[in-house]
Amino acid sequence: MKIIFAGTGSGKASLTRENSSLLLGDDKSFILIDCGEGISKQLLQLDIPFDRIGAVVISHFHADHLAGLPGLITQMKLYGRKDDLQLFVPANLENTLNVILNSFFIFKEGLPFKLIINGINEGETVSLAGGMQFRGVRNSHINNKYNVDYVPEENFLSYSFLFSAGDKNIFYTADVGGSSDLLLFDEKADFIIAETTHIPHEKFLQMLVKYEPEKIILNHIDDENRTVNWLNSLDKKLKKYFTVAFDGMTLEI
Ligand SMILES: [Zn+2]
Repeated sequence: MKIIFAGTGSGKASLTRENSSLLLGDDKSFILIDCGEGISKQLLQLDIPFDRIGAVVISHFHADHLAGLPGLITQMKLYGRKDDLQLFVPANLENTLNVILNSFFIFKEGLPFKLIINGINEGETVSLAGGMQFRGVRNSHINNKYNVDYVPEENFLSYSFLFSAGDKNIFYTADVGGSSDLLLFDEKADFIIAETTHIPHEKFLQMLVKYEPEKIILNHIDDENRTVNWLNSLDKKLKKYFTVAFDGMTLEI
């Protein structure tokens, strides 16, 4: 089982980092977690055929987490995919996603494979092929970022996830709205993938205490110098728990 960091950048365009996309699985089949703009090209670069993606899980509908999806589905069509594709989005956003895809002229009826859009109910365990499971919990990312009354709250949800693969738990923060979002799950996590754009880095230390992970992988990098400088300020004992992700990085778990 492995985690491949396909895109590790923030919402800002970067020459060295694509937007958020992670792969979790073995070489036969992966789930794609978030789907940033550069994902189709990243999969080509990683030599992962498009039909190895069995499911796509989206944390929230910001462009840097979703904008690659219409293009990816289009590639799957062009490359003649036959297998079903499962899409998972926070519950209540299924129809919104369908409208987005339709606006890119992607209609379920016109695809050579079955496209299934699933809503993720908060707190519910979802089982995937290959024995993987995940659970999504709502975080405060969008609420705190856009504290305005013109955004209908029920249409703009943001989730963090706990994935279980084999005997490992992986906590993916996705984008968060505050430090309490870093503590949303009660289970131990073997690996934590934490975004670094919306949170002071020192808050990650509380995750070490609560989850006792093997590693915290710092992701969604907005300012690499800030992240590296913070890591260098830690003493050796703490520093060994952290890794700065880069595009194409593979972690065997
Ligand atoms: Zn976001």
